Amino acid sequence: MIKLTIDDREVEVEPGTTILEAAASVGIEIPHYCYHPDIGSDGNCRMCLTEVNGNTRKLGISCMLPCGDGMDVKTTSPAVKKAQKGVLEFLLINHPLDCTICDQAGECPLQDYTYRFGPGDSRFDEDKAKKPKKVAFSDNVMYDGERCILCTRCTRFFEEVRDNRPIGVENMGGKSQITLGPNGPIEDPYQMNIIDICPVGALTSRDFRFKQRVWFMDFAESVCPGCSRGCNITAGAYQGELLRFVPRRNPQVNQSWMCDDGRLSYKQYNLDDRVRGARVAGEVVTPGDAADKLLELVGDGSSVAVLASTRDTCEELAAVRHFAETVGITQLWHGSRTWEGDDFLKLDDATPNTAGAVALGFSAVPDELPSLRGLIVVGEVDVPSALLAEVDFVAMQAAVAGDLGAAATVLVPGRTPVEKRGTWINHAGLRQQVRPGLDPGPDVPHDWAFWVAAAGGTLGGFPELTAQADAWSAAGAPAPVAAATDGETAS
Ligand code: SF4
Ligand code: SF4
Repeated sequence: MIKLTIDDREVEVEPGTTILEAAASVGIEIPHYCYHPDIGSDGNCRMCLTEVNGNTRKLGISCMLPCGDGMDVKTTSPAVKKAQKGVLEFLLINHPLDCTICDQAGECPLQDYTYRFGPGDSRFDEDKAKKPKKVAFSDNVMYDGERCILCTRCTRFFEEVRDNRPIGVENMGGKSQITLGPNGPIEDPYQMNIIDICPVGALTSRDFRFKQRVWFMDFAESVCPGCSRGCNITAGAYQGELLRFVPRRNPQVNQSWMCDDGRLSYKQYNLDDRVRGARVAGEVVTPGDAADKLLELVGDGSSVAVLASTRDTCEELAAVRHFAETVGITQLWHGSRTWEGDDFLKLDDATPNTAGAVALGFSAVPDELPSLRGLIVVGEVDVPSALLAEVDFVAMQAAVAGDLGAAATVLVPGRTPVEKRGTWINHAGLRQQVRPGLDPGPDVPHDWAFWVAAAGGTLGGFPELTAQADAWSAAGAPAPVAAATDGETAS
């Protein structure tokens, strides 16, 4: 181990750790642009200069400089502060003063660092360099050359993470700019990650551009419902409308990345027409009356099966299982959805909680179906037509009724994956926190509340369950398979 001092604090790190990483490990922030934890250092932006062993004439690039035994590092000395002001003044020489109309405003490290470490004024009174603006790099990514600070995070993402080079740096000096390669628009299915890692507003999302200022939005740190990888995300919404998913760093799951399909899948959760209120044979009833009717149909539970979605949370599935055990249903099945995965993050299982369903005792629908009289469908799931041909009644809990819900004898409201609170277990057995990015309102309570109430005979309304832990214990669920993990915000 290597021992050094950073801002008078003793730090111990593995050999090879850079000064910037060592400082971050003890909560000391060194401003930086070109360094990114998942694409490494380039040493080009010079924002991370630090004073090493009292050398004020030649400051060290902390993202490239490995720690040495006995080093004395200063990150806020007068020489460092002067250098930071100089670097920011230089970066701003050609940067347009368009924060007021820039989509990055509010989450822009250039804006933030200029405010915290910058000079406050500029000595530059020549004309700013003109560069291409509003260049479509693809259907999803827009480039503004004047805002670019040439940190090369975007080009290095493709080279180092995706092993391709759809964009590169052309020209030299003040004329340098990022440009498309000879093959035309970017086609990489993970291309939108360059928008997140661009530290300024040079790369923006064509989907999100100009939709909303980020300081007006509400954010929830959750998990992508798109596949069983369970990439950590931040869901952003404005006045009840979901506007974007962006990745949240979790080195155990997705590093700082997510696929574009998962990112853009948020759109399907802005529902125009959703199930509100319980129905029996199409007539609006109270949840209690719906539960009464369901119990009457289920009887002793024989020849009735439950088919639950693997987008349901562990807590919801535990509550459904508790209900099934209470009324004597023994056939608990899960229904996944599939799509075509790839060799990076995206997996073939297009649902986030198949492992959770299996851990809670749900199995795949058997090839040879037993004779059934009733089917209870819980959540978003494709129901095999052979199953429907078998049964006398269908009960369903869903956010969107569809044809099946419209024909169901009992229909109760359900939440979409972005409205749920609970946990999912990903393909690797990691149990992760899921938090609601949208609140559908009091007439769409959490899905588990209905099943706990129906099992417990609390038929006049839903019990006052407010936390996922309540749902686990009320449903008598088994202990969590693994401690829930959570991502972090990368910069
Ligand atoms: S476009 Fe953004 S990420 Fe790419 S070099 Fe310019 S500032 Fe860096
Ligand atoms: S890889 Fe899967 S979990 Fe990750 S963003 Fe894509 S769809 Fe979502």
